[in-house]
Amino acid sequence: MSMMTAEQYIESLRALKTRVYMFGEQIENWVDHPMIRPSINCVAMTYELAQNPEYSALMTVTSSLTGKPINRFTHLHQSTDDLMNKVKMQRLLGQKTASCFQRCVGMDSFNAVYSTTFEVDAAHGTHYHENFKSFLTMVQDNDLTVDGAMTDPKGDRSKAPHEQSDADMFVHIVERRADGIVVCGAKCHQTGSVNSHWHIFMPTISMNEADKDWAVSFACPSDAEGMYMIYGRQSCDTRKTEEDACIDVGNAKFGGQEALVVLDHVFIPNEYIFLCGEYEFAGMMVERFAGYHRQSYGGCKVGVGDVVIGAAALAAEYNGAERASAVKDKLIEMTHLNETLFSCGLACSCQGHATKAGNYQIDLLLANVCKQNVTRFPYEIVRLAEDIAGGLMVTLPSQQDFTSDTVVGRSGETIGDICNKFFAARDGVPTEHRQRIMRFLENVCLGAAAVGYRTESMHGAGSPQAQRIMIARQGNIQGKKQLAKAIAGIPAE
Ligand code: SF4
Ligand code: FE
Repeated sequence: MSMMTAEQYIESLRALKTRVYMFGEQIENWVDHPMIRPSINCVAMTYELAQNPEYSALMTVTSSLTGKPINRFTHLHQSTDDLMNKVKMQRLLGQKTASCFQRCVGMDSFNAVYSTTFEVDAAHGTHYHENFKSFLTMVQDNDLTVDGAMTDPKGDRSKAPHEQSDADMFVHIVERRADGIVVCGAKCHQTGSVNSHWHIFMPTISMNEADKDWAVSFACPSDAEGMYMIYGRQSCDTRKTEEDACIDVGNAKFGGQEALVVLDHVFIPNEYIFLCGEYEFAGMMVERFAGYHRQSYGGCKVGVGDVVIGAAALAAEYNGAERASAVKDKLIEMTHLNETLFSCGLACSCQGHATKAGNYQIDLLLANVCKQNVTRFPYEIVRLAEDIAGGLMVTLPSQQDFTSDTVVGRSGETIGDICNKFFAARDGVPTEHRQRIMRFLENVCLGAAAVGYRTESMHGAGSPQAQRIMIARQGNIQGKKQLAKAIAGIPAE
């Protein structure tokens, strides 16, 4: 099979028996559910752009495993150019969707698991790397979307996995059989989990010998027996279910998606196991996946930032305020912050290096600096966007008011007439355009899309403290002390 079209991707999801729950009930037709469909449309863009001649050079690449053309989202990076193209591709997708397009977690897990399994096999004589190569070949040949699942519920944070009063707080092996293992546990806030074909599970922290049964990585299909998902709420999400609210939603076509993914005694055949008790490699897998995903944010959040900056500029223009020097300066500041994030994404990519397995890995220190900046700059970009937009983005009446023919005025004016009269701004700008930009900004600054642009910037790919730990580890303070001693004339130890 060659690469799928967007339509083929959406249809392929219907063939899955994925168990999805929302508001306390199972959702049978989750593909067409109005609260889920925008997130499916978003992933579908990763397929659509690959088919578009304008973008296919960036979106597609030759597989290092099969020599066939594949979607870059299923690729093992072969060079620093590949790493940079990954970031550019993510910026493009952010620009086209203004949302989290979800498919990156799979791409980042492919690259982390590929290089880690190579090193596990070299140390233990296991065959996880071959298992993984066969799995990834199947993924590439069928152009699948795969969820990269890392974050366990973690229970009492002061305790290791084996010390938890409930062993399920970290995904773990409950039974070892000749033909595979049985696993239990869950992964929280899993991006793109419902609309992925397969999942790759990885440990979430470094582990020691006592945590052996928790040091496990494997792949399983989304509709594996014993697996189910409980859909996460987003701010203002039920607007998507309202009639005549496509403007009020702010971004009617696209959105992100997170769910709690539960494994209730799921059987994993040997061929899909990538780590099974080799606890000393759990930390390597975590660090590599997190590093790639911290690089990713230097692309996806920048693309969404481009749309936010454009929306703020339009809001000013519709008000007739675009020539004000204060507005111009705020747009400059937003651009400066956004491009700084892109620079970090590119910098950790061009400073990348080959792993022992041969695929390319980003510079870990710079990737962590990238994500640390992402925990801050989008908040400032959003603050400036809100500043420029004005209070209307949170006080505007509903879309139904703007089209209402209920008479309220002394001269027979309708609610619609009144809304269109008083919310008009610059001559020649339809009030509806203003409405659309205000609602878009509401959506991305504090509505459903704020999950992807704000809180995910803080906590996605690891919370700020996780990056600071890595920066401390990679920062080489000892080396810097030696530099200072040499300049200051203090003898080296
Ligand atoms: Fe991709 Fe960004 Fe979403 Fe992560 S947060 S899956 S990098 S779009
Ligand atoms: Fe994310």
